[in-house]
Amino acid sequence: MDEVLIIGGGFAGLAAGVALAKAGRRVRLLEQKPHLGGRARSFLDPQSGFLVDNGQHIFMGCYHAALRFLEEIGTLDRIALQPRLRVHFLEPPGRLSTLQCPNLPSPWHVLAGVLRSDSFGWREKRDVLRLGRAVKSAASSTDGLEGLTVEDWLDRLGQSDRIKRGFWDLLAIAALNEDSRRAAAAMFAHVLRLALFSSPADSRLGIPRRGLSECYTGAAQAYITARGGQVELNRSVAGFILAEGVCRGVRLADETAIEAETVVSAVPWHELPRLLPADLLRSEPVFTNILALRPAPIISINLWFDRPITDLDFIGLRGTTIQWLFNRGGIPGAGEHAVALVLSGAHAYINRSKEELLAISLEDLRKLFPTAREARLAHSLIIKERFATFSPCVGADALRPPARSPARGLYLAGDWTATGLPATIEGAVRSGYAAAQEVLK
Ligand SMILES: Cc1cc2nc3c(=O)[nH]c(=O)nc-3n(C[C@H](O)[C@H](O)[C@H](O)COP(=O)(O)OP(=O)(O)OC[C@H]3O[C@@H](n4cnc5c(N)ncnc54)[C@H](O)[C@@H]3O)c2cc1C
Repeated sequence: MDEVLIIGGGFAGLAAGVALAKAGRRVRLLEQKPHLGGRARSFLDPQSGFLVDNGQHIFMGCYHAALRFLEEIGTLDRIALQPRLRVHFLEPPGRLSTLQCPNLPSPWHVLAGVLRSDSFGWREKRDVLRLGRAVKSAASSTDGLEGLTVEDWLDRLGQSDRIKRGFWDLLAIAALNEDSRRAAAAMFAHVLRLALFSSPADSRLGIPRRGLSECYTGAAQAYITARGGQVELNRSVAGFILAEGVCRGVRLADETAIEAETVVSAVPWHELPRLLPADLLRSEPVFTNILALRPAPIISINLWFDRPITDLDFIGLRGTTIQWLFNRGGIPGAGEHAVALVLSGAHAYINRSKEELLAISLEDLRKLFPTAREARLAHSLIIKERFATFSPCVGADALRPPARSPARGLYLAGDWTATGLPATIEGAVRSGYAAAQEVLK
């Protein structure tokens, strides 16, 4: 039986491995790190001993492929999916409001949720309804939005500054990891269509109940090995072996060659070019395009206090630098009064010192939560992910390659490939499934 070599053990590589193993193919997955999970993983903080995610991740009901993947490997119950969409927002000096969508057919669930919400004034409600109508009535998500940023599109739809800054920016940056002034309108419209204006079940948010790695890495590895496959850690691939446009295997960093007729690359976009021969990278537009993709950073600020800051699971923060707060007290091993703060699309902050970022975060919390003014900070851990995702700016989508590469036998997966989605767990899993499907054709 022909072996399939998969390079990279994040969501994309593991999803490809699970799909191929399920189809009866022998899988050999090589991961350069001593652990699986890539950009979505958890680890024990050596200083405090607490379990930390490299960054807080949320799932959505519309993550059909990702939820199917977790179900296949038996870990779906590790994600707490809301019964229906419910988001709290907090703004200085501590005004709490809620957006809660009732169980009505789409788009009425969102429209009713917005109309009833105390998060918006009448003008903002009208703005949201107007945008919802535009999304629903467009023949396709990208219809007429080519070349527009999210900000251009919002302006075109007459959205007020208050709704832009207090709602759409928060959603756009959470969904796209990019500022509205850079992010592509077409991608945002597509996400809104899938997540908000599809069905009440698709609009729900899902929060991991465990450390991220516990949600999938071990179970996916066990799934693959139980079907005769192998998952090898500390195996760094240095290049693909390519001759006359055909991939014949890979070369490891220690110069060992591994032959294979089928190779699935599931490494990030910024790692792939160095694995390709220079002439192919220069001559093949599908590969050359990858060089033009740009990164967008995320900063995660993990704080442990001596008392609870809030009893809400998560909150969208308005009028502050920090965008989201997640209460991690319920996660086994994460620490009793642990909170994770998220700063996405963090271009302007990624070079700030950790001391500065900590000071900004504490100031934001004290503006919003009376408890944070009295609480003692026991420990902090700041994680900067410079290459968290590719930036879904205007024009980026056209640079993303399909699963079948121009080199025969070499398939591409990863959240950055042409999934039509921003860089997300759903995109990564879909890309893994798409690559597996191409292999099986
Ligand atoms: C801080 C943060 C927060 C996020 N929040 C969310 C969220 O809330 N919701 C959401 O849906 N998504 C979120 N994402 C995005 C999500 O994490 C990614 O889209 C997803 O994990 C990407 O998976 P992947 O398999 O494509 O890539 P990766 O996870 O990057 O996996 C690639 C793997 O390839 C390995 N590799 C690289 N080069 C080699 C080599 N030469 N040889 C062998 N192995 C190699 C790497 O070590 C890595 O393990 C977030 C990302 C970050 C960083």
